[in-house]
Amino acid sequence: MTGTNTDHLYQLVNRSKRNTENVIKTAPLGICITDPQGHFEMVNPAYCQFYGYQEEELLGQHFTLVVPEAYRMQVSQLHDEFIRGDENYELRQEWEVRCNNGETRTIITEAARIEGDDGKPRKVTFIVDITQRKRLEERLTQANERLEYLAHHDELTGLLNRRQGLAKLEEALERCRRYGNQLSIVMFDLDNFKNVNDTYGHSTGDSVLQEVTQVVNQQLRSTDSQVRLGGEEFLIIMPEVNAEAAHTAMERIRQQVEQTTYTEHQLTMTLSAGIACYVEASSTRMLDRADKAMYQAKQAGRNRVVIASSSV
Ligand code: GH3
Ligand code: MG
Ligand code: MG
Repeated sequence: MTGTNTDHLYQLVNRSKRNTENVIKTAPLGICITDPQGHFEMVNPAYCQFYGYQEEELLGQHFTLVVPEAYRMQVSQLHDEFIRGDENYELRQEWEVRCNNGETRTIITEAARIEGDDGKPRKVTFIVDITQRKRLEERLTQANERLEYLAHHDELTGLLNRRQGLAKLEEALERCRRYGNQLSIVMFDLDNFKNVNDTYGHSTGDSVLQEVTQVVNQQLRSTDSQVRLGGEEFLIIMPEVNAEAAHTAMERIRQQVEQTTYTEHQLTMTLSAGIACYVEASSTRMLDRADKAMYQAKQAGRNRVVIASSSV
């Protein structure tokens, strides 16, 4: 090889080194190198900027300086495992980290093992800030949970809505068909509720609906479900309960509702209820029987509980 060629090659190698250094300096992702004990040996500007430190504040420090205290032991151990060449090390990981200004951010790290000029291994860590994406994801998850909730619940009372309530009734009926379980349903409607709206306004009416819901809920067993069928008409599904027991429970609820006063106007409310128990596997027929019994309760003067005749 001639002298000129060697010079040329030397220049190329030097240029390549400088290029590599510049790439690391200008890289939009944070890069650091840690020694086998976990001390920073190199931090690029993006790394320093992300964490809010000067290069000289980080070099020589243990990398757990930028790790929340709760994870320090865990990540220290992982660093050791990685340096030792543990096969199970997850190269791509998501972390919560703490920046110098106290802010917590989420990053994805990727790691590579290189050999230092002393022949010992080093860990190179690349970090990508995914805080924004993470926050967006969390907001989307919350919005989805809210939508899911609203699809199944009534917004005013928090009870199951009609669609979900009827689905629940179908499930309960399926168990009756399969296992011969008992089941009762109660349909109830508030008496003369229109007067509340007419006299005190719709929002007082809304509050009454919420408060009555609470009173009824407090009397129910955990296996019972209260459903808002619509307006001021409700359904209670009582699995494993026969008509008589449902009547006893509903009588107690009727009295409790009657004895409570509602809103700041100290209003009194009563309800009329119809009970139907499982005799055939049709939810429509069962609801229809409960509805007719409720109508009889209204006809007989309201504030009472009637069991559908075929349920006795
Ligand atoms: P009855 O004893 O025969 O049941 O008499 P009622 O006055 O309760 O008559 P009905 O059940 O037909 O009327 C229900 C009223 O409930 C009519 C409607 O304006 C009111 N209503 C329905 N949904 C809501 C609601 O979400 N909020 C409020 N404030 N009122 C409602
Ligand atoms: Mg009514
Ligand atoms: Mg009604």
